[in-house]
Amino acid sequence: MNTPLPQSASSQDSGNFFDFLVSCIDPRFTALHTRHMLQLGREGRYSDFSIAGGALAAISHQNPSWPVTLWENLALSMQIHGVNRLVFLGHEDCAAVKQWAQAQPNLRHLPELEWHNAIFTSATAEAQRRFPNLNIQCRVIFLSGDVLHCNCGPANTAQPTSSRMALPASAAIPSSDRQGFVEFIKAAMRSRNTLIRDERRALAIGVTEYGLSASEAREVFFAHTVAHDALPQEKLTDEVTAFLRMRATKQGVVRKADIELAIALVRRRAETSLSRAEADRLVREMMLRENLRPRRLTDMLLGG
Ligand SMILES: [Zn+2]
Repeated sequence: MNTPLPQSASSQDSGNFFDFLVSCIDPRFTALHTRHMLQLGREGRYSDFSIAGGALAAISHQNPSWPVTLWENLALSMQIHGVNRLVFLGHEDCAAVKQWAQAQPNLRHLPELEWHNAIFTSATAEAQRRFPNLNIQCRVIFLSGDVLHCNCGPANTAQPTSSRMALPASAAIPSSDRQGFVEFIKAAMRSRNTLIRDERRALAIGVTEYGLSASEAREVFFAHTVAHDALPQEKLTDEVTAFLRMRATKQGVVRKADIELAIALVRRRAETSLSRAEADRLVREMMLRENLRPRRLTDMLLGG
């Protein structure tokens, strides 16, 4: 394998990211993975997803459930933890990658690093189709512990998070995908599909099968489902807070439409019936705790 270029990992990093690390299960590397992330100062700032072959799982035809599992877990972690960057971490001498490459006539004679690059390009394209606003990084770690930062391929055109530059999720998604998921939710409601009672599962379908971002799927879900089982207060607060965080810009600004959605959600899912004013107050309190604020006219003029 080629010698990795010396690279200062910390120079590529920033405290604004919460990472979703996808790495292999090879036991020779588990401690190295952790050390790598700690060296980047990522302690408590990343979710860890290990699966045989790492990024290879995202494009696995051999194990069709693996990509679904990966995307579902990523979508959940985006909702729950505020993940905004996906990190594919390949490793030297990966048995799963080698086995896959040997079955690719155009790749099998190339150096190992080229195998990783091919996987990164395909996996990145798959991730971006589903999560257009997600930042993506691709790296390979060596037995020595050195880490090479790779190009994720032509599909990775997302700019590192300047939320002012980023398209709102709804603008980046073809309306046909959104409409497809709306129809799915409506049909499921009509047929009393029990699946739809499992909110997480429904959201995962929006993400994996209709190519929506997690927040987009959530928005559609909330807008098109009727009374659900009530949530205990604490869980309801967690859910709504996660939604507000997700919809907020990096500056902590939340659009009026999203605040309205949050208020509607509180009223729909609360254990006791709440007036609009009460729900409004609860949402304002959640926003205050999270340092979030409604969008003002000046934000709009500044493009926030
Ligand atoms: Zn491996």
